[in-house]
Amino acid sequence: MSPFKPQPGELQTRLRAAYPDARCALDHRDPFQLVVATILSAQCTDARVNLTTPALFARFPDAAALAEARQDEVEALVKSTGFFRNKARHLIGLGQALMARHGGQVPSDPAELGALPGVGQKTANVVLANAFGVPALAVDTHIFRVARRLGLSKGTTPEKVEADLCRAFPREDWIELHHQLIFHGRRTCDARRPDCAACPLLDLCPTGLGQMVDPHSGVRFTPAPEGLRPSGVKERSASETALQSQSLASLGGRPRPPSPAPSHGQGTPQRILSLVPSVTELLVQWGLAARLAGRTRYCIEPRWIRNTVPSVGGTKDPDLGRIRDLAPDLVILERDENPKEVAEDLTALGIPWLALEIRTVKDCAAALRDLGHRLGVPEAAEARAAALEAALKGRRRKGPRALVLIWKDPWMSAGPDTYLGDLLRQGGLTPIGPDRYPVLSDDDLEALGPQVILLPTEPYRFNGRHQAELQKRFPEAIVRRVDGQALTWYLSRTEAGLDLVRSFR
Ligand code: SF4
Repeated sequence: MSPFKPQPGELQTRLRAAYPDARCALDHRDPFQLVVATILSAQCTDARVNLTTPALFARFPDAAALAEARQDEVEALVKSTGFFRNKARHLIGLGQALMARHGGQVPSDPAELGALPGVGQKTANVVLANAFGVPALAVDTHIFRVARRLGLSKGTTPEKVEADLCRAFPREDWIELHHQLIFHGRRTCDARRPDCAACPLLDLCPTGLGQMVDPHSGVRFTPAPEGLRPSGVKERSASETALQSQSLASLGGRPRPPSPAPSHGQGTPQRILSLVPSVTELLVQWGLAARLAGRTRYCIEPRWIRNTVPSVGGTKDPDLGRIRDLAPDLVILERDENPKEVAEDLTALGIPWLALEIRTVKDCAAALRDLGHRLGVPEAAEARAAALEAALKGRRRKGPRALVLIWKDPWMSAGPDTYLGDLLRQGGLTPIGPDRYPVLSDDDLEALGPQVILLPTEPYRFNGRHQAELQKRFPEAIVRRVDGQALTWYLSRTEAGLDLVRSFR
C-alpha cells in the first residue's frame, strides 16, 4: 500500500459539491449578535442557541442595553444553553467592555476582539470570519475530528490542527472550508457513526479506507468488499457495520411512541441514557444496569445507581454536553417528563432517542412491550405487560370522586386525561378536575367537592401539616399523604400504584 498523501485541492472540490449550503449556522444580523450567539454556543448546539437568541436580542438589542442588564434577567433568558450563570456574566461584561472601550461596536482587530469577556481565540476567529470576512479557521470539535481522520493533521490540540489546515489550504478558502468541514462532521463524519459508505471523500480518506487507525476512536475501520462500495469509491469503511439506531420523530413533530424493534441483535442499544426516573428503575429491574450510560439526578432508584451511573442533570434541562460526552446509542424520553426541546437538541447532536407517551395504564403495557423489543429483552417485557393487563381485568365501578394534588402554592392537580387520572379510574375511583395539570384556586378546590384527596410525597413534598390543613377544609373527605413513587412512577411501579389506589375504594 502506497503511503497516504493528503489532496487538499480535490478534497475541497468535493466538499463544495457536497455542501453548497455550508454557512454559519448561528442566526445573527450584525457582529454584536454574532459575538453573543457564539459565546452562548459553548457546550451547546447551534439549534438551541438559535431558539434562545430571538428573545435575548429583543430584550437586549445592543451593547448599551446589555451593559445595563441585571444578571438574573440575562440568566433567565439564556438558561437553556447551559452554564448560564457564566454566560450571563460574560454577556454583561461584553456589553460593558464594548461600551467602555469601543463605543458600543464590535472591533475587527483580532487582539481587541480576543480581549473581550467570554471571547477566546475560537470565538474571535468565528466572528472575524463571519462578521468581517477576515480569513480565519476556527477549529471546533467537528473540524478537529474530520481533519485528523482525513490525514490533514496529526495535531493533538485544536491550535496544532488549525495551523496544519492553514498551511494546507489557500488563505482565501479558509472561511468556506471552516463551514464545509463542520457540515461534513455533522452530516456524514459523525463522531461515533461516520457514514463512510456514503462519504464523498472516502477514497481520499486513510481512516475510512482502513489505512490507519481512526484517531478519534482508536479503532481501525475494516474495508468492505468492492462490490458494495458506492460508485467511484475504491474502498469502503466498515461504518456500515457500526451500531445504527434510529431517531423516532422528526424535528417539530410531536414525539411518538417507540418504533418496532430491530429484527437483529446488532441494533440493540448498549449505551442507554434514561431521562425518565421510572424507566431507569425499570431497566435495572430488567437486568440492564450494565448498559445504563447515564441518568438524570432524579433517577434515584435503586439507590446504588447514584454511585455507579453518571448524572446528566435534571429531566427538564439535562446537560447536553455531558450527554454527548457519554456517547449514548439511545436516549429514552417521555413526553410529559421531558420538554420537546430536549429531543430537538438530541436530534441536532445526531443522538438517537426514543420518546414514550404514557397517558393511561394501558399505555404502560404497550410501552413495556415496545421497550422490551427495542432493548432486546422481549420475554421480560411480555411477562410484565401481561401481568399488568391481567391486573386491569374485571368490571370497574364508579367510585368516590378523587383528586390527586401534585403541587401547592399554587395548588395543581393531575387531571382525568393524565396517567394519574387513569390510574385512579383503573383503581376504582373517579378522577375529577380539569384535564392535564391545571392550577386550582381555593374556590376551585371547594367547587370540585372531592371525596378523596391524595397528596403524593413527590413531585411536591406534601407533609403532615398540608394534610391536616386540607382535612380541616374538607372534613367529610378522606385526605391522605401517599407514596409518591408508587403513585407516579409508571412502568416500574404501575402495579404498586394500582394497589395503592384500590385501597381507597
Ligand atoms: S470516509 Fe469516513 S472517516 Fe473518512 S471523512 Fe468520510 S465519513 Fe469520515
